[in-house]
Amino acid sequence: MDNQNLFAALRAAFPQDLSQIAIECADGEQPGAAYRWHDIDRGTAMLANLLASLGLPEGSRVAVQTEKSVEALMLYLAVLRAGYVFLPLNTAYQAAEIEYFIANAEPAVVVCAPKNFVWVSRIAFTAGTSHVFTLGEARDGSLLERAANCSDQHAPAVKHADDMAAILYTSGTTGRSKGAMLSHGNLLSNASMLKDYWDWQPGDVLIHALPIFRVHGLFVASHGALLNGSKMIWFNKFDPRAVIARLPEATVFMGVPTLYVRMLGESSLTREACRNMRVFISGSAPLLVETFDDWTRRTSHILLERYGMSETAMLTSNPCRASAGQRRRGTVGPALPGVGLRVMDDLGQPCAVDQIGHLQVSGPNVFSGYWRMPEKTREEFTDDGWFKTGDVGKIEADDYVTIVGRSKDLIISGGYNVYPAEIEGFINDMAGVAESAVIGVPHPDFGEAVVAVVVAKPGDAPDPAAMIASLKTAIANFKVPKKLFVVADLPRNAMGKVQKNLLRDQHRSLFN
Ligand code: AMP
Repeated sequence: MDNQNLFAALRAAFPQDLSQIAIECADGEQPGAAYRWHDIDRGTAMLANLLASLGLPEGSRVAVQTEKSVEALMLYLAVLRAGYVFLPLNTAYQAAEIEYFIANAEPAVVVCAPKNFVWVSRIAFTAGTSHVFTLGEARDGSLLERAANCSDQHAPAVKHADDMAAILYTSGTTGRSKGAMLSHGNLLSNASMLKDYWDWQPGDVLIHALPIFRVHGLFVASHGALLNGSKMIWFNKFDPRAVIARLPEATVFMGVPTLYVRMLGESSLTREACRNMRVFISGSAPLLVETFDDWTRRTSHILLERYGMSETAMLTSNPCRASAGQRRRGTVGPALPGVGLRVMDDLGQPCAVDQIGHLQVSGPNVFSGYWRMPEKTREEFTDDGWFKTGDVGKIEADDYVTIVGRSKDLIISGGYNVYPAEIEGFINDMAGVAESAVIGVPHPDFGEAVVAVVVAKPGDAPDPAAMIASLKTAIANFKVPKKLFVVADLPRNAMGKVQKNLLRDQHRSLFN
């Protein structure tokens, strides 16, 4: 059997001439620093050898919470190469969140930012992790120091297609986050199919400006460039003006809608700046038709919107080649080749063309289940093996899919997912709070903004500003409500269920 390790496939796609530039840093500690393909090969080999030297059991998880850097990407590739399981963590997560992930995933290795070593290592060692390394933005920290002593030759570990490659935590609609287990086969099948569908060309150059702890930046963007042997212009942080300044050197850009909105706010975004671009791809959150139209007006490029999720990687996409059809505003395009997509009604029966229902998917890209949560896994799959996405939409006669909403109680703010239940849990634990409801309302920059509506305990008068300040110390900033209201009571239906739709209507114009 040949090796189905995802890294082996990515490595095989490196250009013949390994002295070409693979990644050029656009910002960070060393703007202009260039990594050649042999640097990526050697660096990942050394890191893989370091991991191999630790004698970790098969299937060990390597949890990583570091700022974005090329070395952090190399660490991901090295974990694949060594055959372990990569577990990326949002850099915004705070101690209570990290404690949960480490307790749940039981990683053998944790890599964190040098400035967080004291508290992260305390959590990790308490939970039984055997190795904690640090990796900083300036190539500092113990990870690279230790790897520097390792050989730069390493044969990728032999993996089957269904061996686990990564766990991505997605927040749960109820309770805590669930770890979606993705295999080498899930990720490679999706990446190979997208290479063809998005028409990657020799000479393509990708601007990589997304975080690398989620599907979009870690898998879709990085795998796309690596599998095409394409150079990346690498931004550790997204800065609209700086990205626009580099567009003339690039051909492919991927972003969440908020990034497109921010670039539209810059006068330097012109047709001339985009003259060499082949495609701009948007996903992770709904793209407003105004953004779609504004982008075409300003740049003459038609944004390509696609749809996917942590559990499945990419599911649908508007066409890339003009001959394959038009990019239709307001839709996420047809199901990608090999992806099964169906719409079912509340009774589990197939919907007719154009009828709105629950989107369910199947295919080689769909994950195997949630880490150590067999119950949750069973709930999220149908009896005939389709995954319930929790998204609501319809399929037109010519197969284009439109997403109209979500049955899962999810807020997407600036491309980041926020589950109200988690935030309500934190708020309800605060002094003076009887109950709360967290909702998402339209926001011009973030798409949706998190808003909390709180009922005080009798005789108490909690201070909204103090509550927001306290939440900022407990949870990632993108989850903290932008506004918090203290009210007398929450609207409820006859069953006693809080009517969040009424709250959303009431606060619809808060930011517009
Ligand atoms: P995540 O697992 O964080 O990637 O979030 C996945 C969710 O983001 C999906 O289930 C959708 O609700 C939403 N999503 C992703 N792409 C799109 C899109 N193009 N339009 C609307 N919603 C999207």
